[in-house]
Amino acid sequence: MREWFRNVYTTVETVAKGMLVTISYFFRTFDPKRRTFTEKFEYPELPVAVSPRYRGFHRFDLTTCIGCDQCAKACPVDCIYIHKEKNPTGKGFRVNGFMIDYTKCMFCSLCVDPCPVECIFMGSNHDLSCYSRDGCVVDYAKLPLEIAWGQATLNPTAVIESKVITEPVWVKPPEPVEAKKKPAPKKKAAPKPAAEATEG
Ligand code: SF4
Ligand code: SF4
Repeated sequence: MREWFRNVYTTVETVAKGMLVTISYFFRTFDPKRRTFTEKFEYPELPVAVSPRYRGFHRFDLTTCIGCDQCAKACPVDCIYIHKEKNPTGKGFRVNGFMIDYTKCMFCSLCVDPCPVECIFMGSNHDLSCYSRDGCVVDYAKLPLEIAWGQATLNPTAVIESKVITEPVWVKPPEPVEAKKKPAPKKKAAPKPAAEATEG
């Protein structure tokens, strides 16, 4: 009988200790002036801020990409597809398509470091709901520049609209003819030092 009462006492004591810890934390963190989470953030208009090092959907700048393929080669799951052609109006390549398949991407960021012109970064967008699997394949060369660069939400409507575009949204303008034909200025010969000139 004594054993039974001891077990009941131990049980009640253990539960009370646990509840004391809980209630002490409740009073330590309770602030009547603090607004509730849902008052502070209202998705999607006012989403929770992410940390600066957060790895979300990419930010890509079509206007500086040189189509060198370094990012695609570095990707461990081969989910970057670049369509390019020789630039008909100048040097380098014209990037016609820059697709990332987000059904495969694992947000490892390995594509960012090798880029020689720093035109691809991990962004802070974390929501891309799609109507189909095809909606997860995003062609950054067909999205409006501000969406591709992460200044506007990567929304499913923009992605679906980009699917019917055949030409990239931006192409490098042709180089000015004068700049191409103008010969490099010749270097002037350095004047002889005065002492050397009198010796001669
Ligand atoms: S984040 Fe990683 S998996 Fe995704 S595209 Fe870049 S290298 Fe590939
Ligand atoms: S590494 Fe940079 S410049 Fe080269 S294709 Fe990728 S995004 Fe474009």
